[in-house]
Amino acid sequence: MGRNESAGRLRCHFCGAYEVERLYLASVQLDSCACGSCGASWDEDPTTGEYRGRSGKESAVTPRP
Ligand SMILES: [Zn+2]
Repeated sequence: MGRNESAGRLRCHFCGAYEVERLYLASVQLDSCACGSCGASWDEDPTTGEYRGRSGKESAVTPRP
């Protein structure tokens, strides 16, 4: 059961890829996530994995090559 939850948290909310990078932002107590497959970025609650909305500063968190 717990294994399914942790696996789900690793997936992109938009394309379902497992290429998600996450960065814990202690100041706002959120995980900032970025998908390496489709380029989407969003915020998650670090304790529950709840989707907290799409991040508006993609370029600042994930500089493009
Ligand atoms: Zn994606």
